[in-house]
Amino acid sequence: MALHEDASSLTSDLVALRHDLHRRPEVGLTLPHTQERVLTELDSLPLEVGTGTALSSVIAVLRGRPGGPAVLLRGDMDGLPVSERTGLDYASRTGDTMHACGHDMHVTMLVGAARLLCGQREKLSGDVVFMFQPGEEGYDGAGKMIAEGVLDAAGQRVVGAYGLHVSSSNVPHGVFTSRPGPMLAASDRLIVTVRGAGGHGSAPFRAKDPVPAMAEMITALQTTITRTFNVFDPVVLTVGVVHAGTRHNIIPDDAHFEGTIRTFSEANREKAEEVVVRLIRNVALAHGLEVDVEYEREYPVTETDAAETEFLAATVADVFGGERFEPMINPITGAEDFSRVLAAVPGSFAMLGAVPPGLDPATAAYNHSPNAQFDDAVLPSGAELLAELAIRRLEREVAHV
Ligand SMILES: [Zn+2]
Repeated sequence: MALHEDASSLTSDLVALRHDLHRRPEVGLTLPHTQERVLTELDSLPLEVGTGTALSSVIAVLRGRPGGPAVLLRGDMDGLPVSERTGLDYASRTGDTMHACGHDMHVTMLVGAARLLCGQREKLSGDVVFMFQPGEEGYDGAGKMIAEGVLDAAGQRVVGAYGLHVSSSNVPHGVFTSRPGPMLAASDRLIVTVRGAGGHGSAPFRAKDPVPAMAEMITALQTTITRTFNVFDPVVLTVGVVHAGTRHNIIPDDAHFEGTIRTFSEANREKAEEVVVRLIRNVALAHGLEVDVEYEREYPVTETDAAETEFLAATVADVFGGERFEPMINPITGAEDFSRVLAAVPGSFAMLGAVPPGLDPATAAYNHSPNAQFDDAVLPSGAELLAELAIRRLEREVAHV
């Protein structure tokens, strides 16, 4: 098929682009080099291109048949504050930032899809919106792009939205995997400061020690999670920050801890906030201490549309063969701000196995590791699948109208 040959012929360009992005990762909402690079790549294509205001996003619109519907393809663009240790010849040159989650691959695959679709323009039953998104790693770049109108960038609301995420571990090389319904967790942040009254370590009865109360809160949180929530709708709570005191024989005024809470349903998300905050307030009360509790909502559950996920699986099987799609049995406890897009419009999301040859998917370093590696060889497949999803979804929409 022409699209497949076109995708293969892009390989060396895609690899060069990906290596350039990989050498210069940028973190957060402002990614000037990455944005510039994307703009350069899109420059010669017949696209309407715009950039964001609150963030260095790029939105490109390809016009297909006039009067047709529109679909959206998304690639996130940001790196992480990780010092790369892969030793690759195209490793990060910044020293302290790395494309450790493979978002350089996502940018490249989306550029590839744009090139492929521009070549198929006369066959397109409608418009395609390309969403190049900064700030996925905790900055809610997707939410900001939605606020700036990405879902309506073609002049109408998109009817379907699709994204891919590469995996440096777990998923076999070249295999796409997804599931209907909850696919990634909701992520929320807990911030607690226990307020006591400092004193001499030898005389705790003259002070109000916040440290044992904090310790009790941390262990009681684990107990309450297992005693309160249905094990078949899991909740994960991890305390990753604990700070108190300056010296072994001084009782500090305050003790501080922070945690992350992952849930897979809106009901559990609501309930977790209620249960966690109540427990912390009451342990503090039991010890006669004050406490500040903040419960910050980060990303909602990434929930794919069942019909769209079936469409994605069928497209993978048709284009690459049935062995290239594996149903995802359990959701992933990580979170994604593509959840914002999927909460607004139907669509789907898939992981793509990119474990380099010679590494065992079961033991290879996972995304976010300083040793995480992603194989360039999957780039043409990712670009091709995105392009196929757009072409076929537009066709299907027109057939249904
Ligand atoms: Zn990621």
